[in-house]
Amino acid sequence: MKIKIIGSGITGITSAYYLAKNNHQVTIVDERRYPAMATSYANGCQISASNSETWNSWKNIRQASKWILKKDAPLLISLKPDLHKIKWFIKFINSISQRKNNTLETCKMALNSGMLYKTIADEENIEFDMLQKGILHIYKDIKQLNLARETNKIYKLAGLERWEVNKSELNNIEPSLANENIVGGFYNTTDFTGDIHKFCMELSNILENKYNVQFIKHHAKNIHEELINSDLVLVCAGIGSRKLANSIGDNLPIYPVKGYSITINNPGNNSPWVSLLDDEKKIVTARLGEKRLRIAGTAEFAGYNTDIKWNRVRPLIRWAETNFPNINTEDIKPWAGLRPMTPNMMPIINKSKKNKKVFYNTGHGHLGWTLSAYSAKYISELI
Ligand SMILES: Cc1cc2nc3c(=O)[nH]c(=O)nc-3n(C[C@H](O)[C@H](O)[C@H](O)COP(=O)(O)OP(=O)(O)OC[C@H]3O[C@@H](n4cnc5c(N)ncnc54)[C@H](O)[C@@H]3O)c2cc1C
Repeated sequence: MKIKIIGSGITGITSAYYLAKNNHQVTIVDERRYPAMATSYANGCQISASNSETWNSWKNIRQASKWILKKDAPLLISLKPDLHKIKWFIKFINSISQRKNNTLETCKMALNSGMLYKTIADEENIEFDMLQKGILHIYKDIKQLNLARETNKIYKLAGLERWEVNKSELNNIEPSLANENIVGGFYNTTDFTGDIHKFCMELSNILENKYNVQFIKHHAKNIHEELINSDLVLVCAGIGSRKLANSIGDNLPIYPVKGYSITINNPGNNSPWVSLLDDEKKIVTARLGEKRLRIAGTAEFAGYNTDIKWNRVRPLIRWAETNFPNINTEDIKPWAGLRPMTPNMMPIINKSKKNKKVFYNTGHGHLGWTLSAYSAKYISELI
């Protein structure tokens, strides 16, 4: 079949891979000149089943309302009236009862996805600063640690081996971490990290040269036009997916949830190699080779803008300097991206309700890097 994919982020590239391997004739269109220049550019780089917990909880709603006027809070909701945002939050609240099931489902998908990435990287010989040192979750508040103990029961059901570690074990796992205020942690060695942008660029080259996938720079205005000369269209357009789906009458409840990252160049010897996840601050780290450390986090509900504001970047630098007092933060590159987030935090991997020639693989929110290998394989099999 002649298949057109809209979007060359991680969802589009991995979908193209499985479809091309199944002998389809694949074209990827993207309004940007190069692949993975939007949300798949400089994210937290974690492939993390241990971050599968969905955010749908009254605790998070209460916490967000306390932070509403705090400009440097980990979660920020703009007070500007916006019908799309209001509808999204109503659905978010309605999904609280599905939190456990969705967390379980996400964790299973993530574990599966991690294995698929390893197979792709091995078979295609992809170098993307992959580091298999596991992920260490840290807690400075005993209440949060107790909640993590509960969540761990769900992860265990899904098949993730993650165990509790005390302060001295924490120190052995990541010696550069200042652990005075830490009350405990959880660690697993299944999760890993790697540069999403490098992975997408390398796989794009392989798609073009080995699997004859065609890349075209083009802004897709509506799906009807994209169907001309194609047997089928697969929408992998991240935060652009909702508008495209609207053009054929499908309603995808995807909201752009902004996040920030900093890449610390030459962080020095006193910086972490093990990937960390600070659940309270919603901050993650990933080591990308000797010379780069990525720190990412925060969530902002403020519409479609990627402006880089210093009062949102500063908390990431402060976090790095507090937890790694001797780190070198002289050379920092900030970035902001928009997570394509659904209200129940589950990706949309399905066919259109309105047109049998249209499919979606989108809405992966805060876990697009983690889940894409799985969702791409799934959608290619569905197609
Ligand atoms: C700060 C931050 C940290 C994160 N950390 C992690 C992490 O550690 N682990 C993890 O698993 N996930 C993480 N994520 C989430 C992950 O980065 C995203 O879920 C993922 O990159 C989304 O990929 P995508 O392919 O759906 O979208 P994108 O990468 O945004 O790709 C969509 C593409 O579609 C194109 N497009 C859109 N509309 C059109 C149109 N009309 N016509 C043509 N082209 C179009 C865009 O140009 C873009 O290239 C993080 C996100 C952020 C913001």
